[in-house]
Amino acid sequence: MPKVYNWQLGREMDYPYNGIRPKRQVALIMDTNKCIACQTCTVICKTTWTPGRGQEHMLWNNVESKPYGFYPLGWDVKILEQHGVQPLDGDTYAGKTIFESAPANEIALGYIPGDQDYAHPNVGEDDSFGNMTRGAHLSMQHNQWMFYLPRICNHCTYPSCLASCSRQSIYKRPEDGVVLIDQERCRGYRECVKNCPYKKSFFNPVTRASEKCIGCYPKIEKGHQTQCTTSCIGKIRMTGFISTPDKAREDNPMDYIVHHAKLALPLYPQFGLEPNVYYIPPIHVPPPFLHQMFGRKTAAAIATYRKAAQDEKLLGALLLFGATERIIHRYKVEGGQTIGYDETDTEVVRVPLVEPVKIRPVWDEAHGAYRTNVT
Ligand code: SF4
Ligand code: SF4
Repeated sequence: MPKVYNWQLGREMDYPYNGIRPKRQVALIMDTNKCIACQTCTVICKTTWTPGRGQEHMLWNNVESKPYGFYPLGWDVKILEQHGVQPLDGDTYAGKTIFESAPANEIALGYIPGDQDYAHPNVGEDDSFGNMTRGAHLSMQHNQWMFYLPRICNHCTYPSCLASCSRQSIYKRPEDGVVLIDQERCRGYRECVKNCPYKKSFFNPVTRASEKCIGCYPKIEKGHQTQCTTSCIGKIRMTGFISTPDKAREDNPMDYIVHHAKLALPLYPQFGLEPNVYYIPPIHVPPPFLHQMFGRKTAAAIATYRKAAQDEKLLGALLLFGATERIIHRYKVEGGQTIGYDETDTEVVRVPLVEPVKIRPVWDEAHGAYRTNVT
C-alpha cells in the first residue's frame, strides 16, 4: 500500500491511493463553546438536501450532546472499542490508523450500523456526565458536564469511504477537496457506510445507492459558505479553505486559527483520515475525554481560547464567524476592526473588535415612554 503523509498524525501512514491531496481543501471550523443545539443547521441541511423518499433517516448535519448523544447510536464508542487503546510517542501518533488495523481482506476497520441506530437521533440529548445525589447542588468547579458536538462529513484528505468503494464511485474533487458519491456508478454495496468511522455516508433504500454530505458544492463554487454555516444561530461556524501546515498563510482566517493559533483541532485524528472539520474544544470538559476526541493539543487550545482577546489577529479571525455569507480568503485587523476579503480581494465584511455600547436615557422623550432595555 502507498505511504502518504498525514500532518495531523505527524507521520506517514498506509493509504490505498497516492497523490489525492486537492489543489485546495474546503474546511469548516466549529466553536463548540458557542453551540446551543438549536438544530437550525440540521433542519436547513435536511430541507435543502435530504427531504426525499429514502432519505428519512439521513442527517448529513447533526448535533449531538456529548458524552451520551450519538447519531447513529454509539458511532464513536463502537469504533473506538474496535480500534482499542493505541500508543503515542511524544507528539507523534505511534498507534495504528483504521487503515493499518484493517482485518484481512478489508480496507479499513468498520461496521454497518443497524436500522435502530438511526431511529433515535436525540438519544442522550442534554444528558450530563456525573451523578447528582439527592439534595446536592451545583458549585463551581463542578463535576457535571456535557457539550454539543455539531457534525457533518469531514471531506477527509484520506477518506475511508472513497478508499473502500470497490466500484470507485466516490471521488475527491481536485479543485476543492469535496468528497462526492457518483450516484450513477454506486450499486449500494455500503462499503462506505461501513468504513466511514464518522458514519457520514448513508444508504438510500429507495434508490439503492449511498449518499452523503456534498459540502454544499454549488454554494462553494459561487464563493459562498455552506448552508449549515450561514444559518447557524450561534455563529459558531466558518467555511473556508485550509492549507497544509507548511503552506499556511497568516492572513487566511482558517489557517490562522488552525495552524498559527492551534486553536481548532480535528475530530478523532487517530483514525488517520485527516478530517477537515476543526473544532474549538469546549473549555469546561475534563481533559482526558477531550484528549481522546481531539488529540493531545486540547489543553493548549483551551488555554489559547481563554486569552483569545489578547491576540488581536485571533480575535479578528473569530469575529468573522457568521459575519458574511461569502468565503473569506484573506483578512486583516486594522483600526479596531477585522476586515474580510473574498477571492477577488474585494472587501466583503468589516466587524468591530469591540462592539460599541450605547447607553440610552431611561426616559424616551420622543415617544414619551420609559425604556426597559437601555443598552
Ligand atoms: S445552528 Fe449553530 S448553534 Fe444551532 S445547533 Fe447548529 S451549530 Fe449549534
Ligand atoms: S467523513 Fe466519512 S463520508 Fe465524509 S469524507 Fe470522511 S470518510 Fe468519507
